[in-house]
Amino acid sequence: MITIHSIDELRSFLSEEKESGKKIGFVPTMGALHEGHISLVHAAKHRGLSCVMSIFVNPTQFGPNEDFSKYPRTLETDKNLAFAGGVNFLFAPSEKTIYPPDQEIKKISPPSTLNAVLCGPFRPGHFEGVCTVVNRLLEIVQPDELFLGQKDAQQLRILQETMKPLHPNIEIIGVPTVREPDGLAMSSRNKYLSPEERKKALIISKALLSANQMYKLGEKDAHHIIEHTKKILLEESDFKIQYVDLVRWSDFQKMETIEDKSLLAIAGYLGKTRLIDNVFLD
Ligand code: AMP
Repeated sequence: MITIHSIDELRSFLSEEKESGKKIGFVPTMGALHEGHISLVHAAKHRGLSCVMSIFVNPTQFGPNEDFSKYPRTLETDKNLAFAGGVNFLFAPSEKTIYPPDQEIKKISPPSTLNAVLCGPFRPGHFEGVCTVVNRLLEIVQPDELFLGQKDAQQLRILQETMKPLHPNIEIIGVPTVREPDGLAMSSRNKYLSPEERKKALIISKALLSANQMYKLGEKDAHHIIEHTKKILLEESDFKIQYVDLVRWSDFQKMETIEDKSLLAIAGYLGKTRLIDNVFLD
């Protein structure tokens, strides 16, 4: 694995790679790597691609009261995990490399319909920051395929929609959420949880699993499924629900009866830590 900090160096390595007939798979991350990130690398390798992973804690996707300054930065450990996971090129640019002060970086906005629900209203500007940085990274890396986690399902859906016209030749692959053995979705932010909060966080996957079972047993009424999910979450009084929402995957519209592939998503706080998780009802 080669660790690279500059765009020129990355481009020269990748042009050699492309000249030798290799296709490039790209895994953008903010570091603090875990098995969830590595599953994206495995997906790329499984498809026979040479894997570029980026590690960049993108300031523009954090709100003023969010955790940008305390977001875990663990580059040395990340290098070992990335290497063991099969990453070929680890791109760890500085903020100046991604946002050069003398260069105007094109801002990309999420479609308002996809941004109007779930995390969008609670994190103003977040998805614009995500779209802008991913577009910038895609312009730099110019991969054949982009690997994104279903853990951040709204991000996946928004990037599918915004990147398609800008980078029509890049295929976007959504990779299923990797969970801890007890069900908690892996997340870099799980590091913030105290041992007590870590136990309490299980209520989220428990609620999603139960709602999914209810759906599989034939319940198609969206309101019933949402109420059932909330009822389970309320068993853990320290979990502060931000939202429980059920939207159609194609257009993120809410519905009364589930007829198409849909997304049941939860966001909330345990102490100061904001956690999200979701399940597809398909
Ligand atoms: P992040 O570093 O949190 O920005 O995440 C980088 C990429 O890893 C995103 O595409 C995430 O959706 C994905 N990811 C994060 N956690 C998981 C997980 N538990 N399972 C699968 N993918 C994940």
